[in-house]
Amino acid sequence: MKKKSLLLIILFCSIHLFAQPKADDIYVLLKPDRVFDGQLMHPGWWVLVKGNRIEAAGEPSTINAPSSAKIIDLKGMTLLPGFIEGHSHMFLHPYNETSWNDQVLTESRAERTARAVVHARATLMAGFTTARDLGTEGAGYDDVGLKIAIEKGIIPGPRMLCATRAIVATGSYGPKNEVAEDNLPQGGEEADGLDGITHAVRSQIGHGADVVKIYVDYRWGLNGAAEPTFTVAELKVAVDVAKSSGRMVAVHSGTEEGMRRAIEAGVTTIEHGDGGTPELFKLMKEKGIALCPTLSATEAISGYYGWKKGIDADNAAIKRKHYIFTEAMKAGVTILMGGDVGVFPHGDNAREMILMEEYGMAPIDVLRSATSVNAGVFGLKDLGNVKTGYLADLVAVDGNPLEDIKAVKQVKLVMKDGVIYTGQQGEAVIRRQESGDKR
Ligand SMILES: [Zn+2]
Repeated sequence: MKKKSLLLIILFCSIHLFAQPKADDIYVLLKPDRVFDGQLMHPGWWVLVKGNRIEAAGEPSTINAPSSAKIIDLKGMTLLPGFIEGHSHMFLHPYNETSWNDQVLTESRAERTARAVVHARATLMAGFTTARDLGTEGAGYDDVGLKIAIEKGIIPGPRMLCATRAIVATGSYGPKNEVAEDNLPQGGEEADGLDGITHAVRSQIGHGADVVKIYVDYRWGLNGAAEPTFTVAELKVAVDVAKSSGRMVAVHSGTEEGMRRAIEAGVTTIEHGDGGTPELFKLMKEKGIALCPTLSATEAISGYYGWKKGIDADNAAIKRKHYIFTEAMKAGVTILMGGDVGVFPHGDNAREMILMEEYGMAPIDVLRSATSVNAGVFGLKDLGNVKTGYLADLVAVDGNPLEDIKAVKQVKLVMKDGVIYTGQQGEAVIRRQESGDKR
């Protein structure tokens, strides 16, 4: 490069920097009625944000806000850490709109991406500032692209932990094909054997996976029964390979034996867990494996088959969910908040929180689950709590969720990374308006 042009670039960069007030110096003082800090509810607390971090949280007398601080009154509201969705599929939409098979086989990648953009915005505006997205179901590594677009500020959306394609045993997953000689595109990446599964885990990590998702069982048994897929040896190698890269393993499991194998292999989280028994939950507790019960998915799918909540008796699947949820709590298993959203509409993520309470969890534990517990299990060190030095991901809801859990759906303010998102378009304010930040 010629010296002159280099000088011009340096000059241009300098002007750009000086012309822009530093977003890091902007203070925002939030004055709700109470603050849930990830552990406990504190009446009367305020929170001071500086740039993208929480500067202070506590009694008003302990907070020294500069006179330049932008004050936001949140009368009647509760301020909480931004919610963390434990189980989403940004590239799926409700199956009563389009069946899962048709979404995977007939919707274009462009349509699926366009929908995912809308879903990401709806997730954020529902107060979910982070989402663990557990598989694109046939949309390749597009979740990683979506995450990057959000990080670049091109579209509003939550912080994302991506699973990319997810891993399934050959022949076990869907869409199923009635023409034996043809192979239909699948909703996950097929892998088999120790070498095969090692390669799939490493390849997905190389393509941007933050979490490795494995289907340890699926409806591939005789007459469509759910049966285990991978052997313990296959699962163990997957866990070894994923963990050596610092990543967690999340497994889909709906059977007792699949769950037993997953526990033996030492996975991080078990999704659904419908095959759970008191003995298995005891083992999960001992090994520190968390359960993501996805109550909402079971109820939503039952609804698509005609079940009417509050009118019809609970079907076997719903009864089973009540049972495993109760038993997991009894055993002291760590329970995540994750609804399998995508099966039901994105933006309605908090439906799972309401069901957790309905199925017997104390409201304070539901709040912990959706914030500090999910953050802890997912390794998100500076999220899920309202504490000095933590990232300024916050949500304000109308009312007090400890008195009525449904308040978690009354979202009035969403802040992610110190930026307030507002309106249907989820436009970012504060930094955009006050610092010239083009995000
Ligand atoms: Zn799922």
